[in-house]
Amino acid sequence: MLYAQLHLTLPAWVHEEVDSQRLYPDDDSRIALAIQLSRRNVDHRSGGPFGAAVFTGEGRLIGVGVNRVVPHNCSAAHAEVMALATSQQRMQRYRLNEDGDRIVLASSAQPCSMCYGALVWAGVDELLIGARAEDVQELAGFDEGPLPADWIGELGRRGIQVRRDLMRDHARDVLRDYGEDGIVY
Ligand SMILES: [Zn+2]
Repeated sequence: MLYAQLHLTLPAWVHEEVDSQRLYPDDDSRIALAIQLSRRNVDHRSGGPFGAAVFTGEGRLIGVGVNRVVPHNCSAAHAEVMALATSQQRMQRYRLNEDGDRIVLASSAQPCSMCYGALVWAGVDELLIGARAEDVQELAGFDEGPLPADWIGELGRRGIQVRRDLMRDHARDVLRDYGEDGIVY
């Protein structure tokens, strides 16, 4: 029988462990949440070692995501896609910044080639990154796929500012713990 629907979920613990009411006013608080989500996803073994969150420019939290590839048998269920997609559902629009809201995506690690494309189409103005792609490869063994040589410049030409190496050591710690565990989840 052909499947005609797709159902992706975040783990139930996000409701208990994420403060959705507070403001996240700066880069540090935003990337800290993304890294916290990656850490909790490893602690709970509810997916791979990646977390992401979407904010308004003022720091209101719109949505969060964690990696759910293995639990859902879905290679698209990366943290950034989950964060963008749940935000799109909440806002009921597929371009998050279309009515002038400034939209910030924070990711515990540099987006892979798929998420790089996804964030371009989702209407993002700023991208905050913890770990680098080489950290992901070195510590967790994931191939992040091909990006344009000047991927930061390409985003800049589309109006998306990138800031990286934010709390990079903390983001690397999560990737290292996942990699050393030796179990894929
Ligand atoms: Zn990805």
